[in-house]
Amino acid sequence: DSVRITRALLSVSDKTGLVDFARALVGHGVELVSTGGTYRALSEAGLPVREVAELTGFPEMMDGRVKTLHPAVHGGLLAVRDNPEHQAALAAHGIGAIDLLVVNLYPFEETLAKGGAYDDCVENIDVGGPAMIRAAAKNHADVAVVTEAGAYAGLLAELTETGGSLGAATRRRLAQAAFARTAAYDGAIAAWLATQVGEGERSFFSAGGRLAQGLRYGENPHQAAAFYRSAGAVRPGVASARQVQGKELSYNNLNDTDAAYECVAEFDPDRAAAVVIVKHANPCGVAEGASLAEAYERALACDPTSAFGGIVALNRTLDAEAARRIVEIFTEVIIAPDATEEAAAIVRAKKNLRLLLAGGLPDPRAPGETVKSLAGGLLVQARDAMSVDDMPLTVVTKRPPSEREYADLRFAYRVAKHVKSNAIVYAREGATVGIGAGQMSRVDSARIAAWKAGEGAARLGLAESLAKGSVVASDAFFPFADGLLTAAEAGATAVIQPGGSMRDAEVIAAADAAGLAMVFTGHRHFRH
Ligand code: 5GP
Repeated sequence: DSVRITRALLSVSDKTGLVDFARALVGHGVELVSTGGTYRALSEAGLPVREVAELTGFPEMMDGRVKTLHPAVHGGLLAVRDNPEHQAALAAHGIGAIDLLVVNLYPFEETLAKGGAYDDCVENIDVGGPAMIRAAAKNHADVAVVTEAGAYAGLLAELTETGGSLGAATRRRLAQAAFARTAAYDGAIAAWLATQVGEGERSFFSAGGRLAQGLRYGENPHQAAAFYRSAGAVRPGVASARQVQGKELSYNNLNDTDAAYECVAEFDPDRAAAVVIVKHANPCGVAEGASLAEAYERALACDPTSAFGGIVALNRTLDAEAARRIVEIFTEVIIAPDATEEAAAIVRAKKNLRLLLAGGLPDPRAPGETVKSLAGGLLVQARDAMSVDDMPLTVVTKRPPSEREYADLRFAYRVAKHVKSNAIVYAREGATVGIGAGQMSRVDSARIAAWKAGEGAARLGLAESLAKGSVVASDAFFPFADGLLTAAEAGATAVIQPGGSMRDAEVIAAADAAGLAMVFTGHRHFRH
């Protein structure tokens, strides 16, 4: 299954390593054929080489647009060696088979990167090169194809070792690399052209996302920004939402609205109404209620200071009662699956307030990816589609949680999933009473959350912190007992956390000593 290399076609824009490689091929008895520039480079180096024009009987024409697009070349690349009809065709037309193709393409990407003008980019779209590469790669049963200078050394080593042949595994590997190269090349061209054919068609990475809207700016006014929708079907969520009214959405609005809506979707609308208020991508109040208005009231009570200028997400159709309550304070965005006519009219009275109707709720368990950019690259991960409902809760303390505590523990863990790490969430009777987000130490998050619960009580003129009788959720394990003890001191009676710390035993002992009930979920909800 190894192919003896007797004839090679070389046509390269990047001539790095070309002459040495070609000389070594000649040393293995390989006959060389080349296109204009490559031919010149090889003949100037004193190597025996024939011009493709000699094979085709046509001169290269139209500024090189047509050089190798000819049956004499493509027949030689595509003919199947053990197919008698193919061999007869080669013989009838005087076509010589080509066993090795060495091509690297017109530097389209480099021209673009250099800021090349439109016409310059177009001229650097290689046509014959990809055609030959694809022909040779398709026929890898008989032909080897090389598309980058980096592969020359390895091939020469194999040729030397075998006395002039290339094995089937090598040819298949080369074919794979060849198709990857032409795919990337066409991808780059398509992505560039997409940017040239108007905003609506601008492409996202070359993978086909669509520009939904240009944004005035990014997180800060000195950053340009745009909102792209993923390719394919858009699942219910911010990307599916219709803006019914209000000012233009900003980058931060969209980011916060997404955080709010994904969080509220964790709460089954058939069970209870739920409201999430978000600031800076973190929930500052989450609550369930018999009605949306009640849920909003309770969510707002958690941290009304932070809720000012916030994003409000609802898990049911926005009704008039809730709308009336929400418009009482300054709110940036409301997002809901839908709104009643009456509710929409109430929101309309606030000209700037944006109302987004998503047509449905996101499915928290839906598969998908999240993408984050970093300098020079992207991080892609499967989205966190885990729900606490899918986690077996293990009681690790002497005292198991009561029924009421269990309900609140699940509630708090649902919220913690959507709070930036380190996340500590105090909850009571289906409402958050203190949220600590984004701290670098877990004990600080626990302290902040407890402090907020104390502030809440002071606002209401209550003697005892709102954390009294609450439960607490931690998005990852407590590495030490201190964070847990802070929660116990604040008045929490039950704890939910993944477990898995080296010091679990110490943390469990502290929980038992404080009379807490604690469950482990086995799954953490880091969110960075
Ligand atoms: P050379 O420097 O040898 O004149 O040209 C080499 C380049 O021409 C390679 O990048 C190769 O992919 C490209 N090429 C080979 N045949 C054709 C053709 O028929 N049309 C176009 N547009 N490019 C070709």
